[in-house]
Amino acid sequence: MKAARFHQFGGPEVLQYEDVPEPQLRKDQVLIQIKACALNHLDLFIRKGLPGIKLPHINGSDIAGEVAGVGEYIPDLKAGQRVLLAPMTFCGYCVECVAGRQNFCANFSVLGYANDGGDCEYIAVPRASVVPVPEGVQLTFEQAASVPLVFTTAWHMLVGRCAIKPGDTVLVLAAGSGVGIAAIQIAKMFQARVITTAGDKRKIEAARELGADYVINHYQQKISQEVRKGCIDFAIGIGGENFNLPPDSRTRRLFPRLRRESRRDAGSPAAPAGRPVACRGSETSARRPS
Ligand SMILES: [Zn+2]
Repeated sequence: MKAARFHQFGGPEVLQYEDVPEPQLRKDQVLIQIKACALNHLDLFIRKGLPGIKLPHINGSDIAGEVAGVGEYIPDLKAGQRVLLAPMTFCGYCVECVAGRQNFCANFSVLGYANDGGDCEYIAVPRASVVPVPEGVQLTFEQAASVPLVFTTAWHMLVGRCAIKPGDTVLVLAAGSGVGIAAIQIAKMFQARVITTAGDKRKIEAARELGADYVINHYQQKISQEVRKGCIDFAIGIGGENFNLPPDSRTRRLFPRLRRESRRDAGSPAAPAGRPVACRGSETSARRPS
């Protein structure tokens, strides 16, 4: 099969379009013919070089396609089904995996990181990775491939860590980001109130169309001042202070401030700044005491 693969780390010039062996389907796996694979910033981090990447390597974490083959231990999928792939990879049998905390598995990774990803024609994955697109749902393969990583991350923050509920108010940083777009839709699905931030007219309008109740133009308004006007239950931002964000990143500068304010108001149901929540961390640890 064909793949976009690299044999050394570097810029886009290291990518090679070349023939690679097709994956061999195991009895407990599903073979997917890849129809679309979205780009993620992770692809750039990996291509530039991250520890633990074995070369040559195929990038690509956000995959949609059709079932091309089904291992004999898989009873419920058939060839031709339209699917997207849940991007997390994990061992499936350690204490954390069995308890449903697969993100704490010692072998936790994502497709296209520890193993080859979707910038190729076929991939073999465990049954747990395969999410069939429901019959009657009009999603193109490109749309389906835009879902996995950003919705998983936003869901983990809002549902896993914050236990979002109707009536909550959430500050979603960066409405124009993939995680922001996902977070606004998930929060609205839970009938929460969404305050979000964006820097240009097009993104502000798109955020409103997705259901955001109030959009802060971060070039014209100060996020911390706007936030203080209302009562925020929690604020979510991709990476937050845990991740390798540039020192001048808004999220990086805003998170310590929100954290200070949240500590000052600890225990108060009216903490104005809410509790800052990043994507890393244990389940429901971030919920403000009520
Ligand atoms: Zn595990």
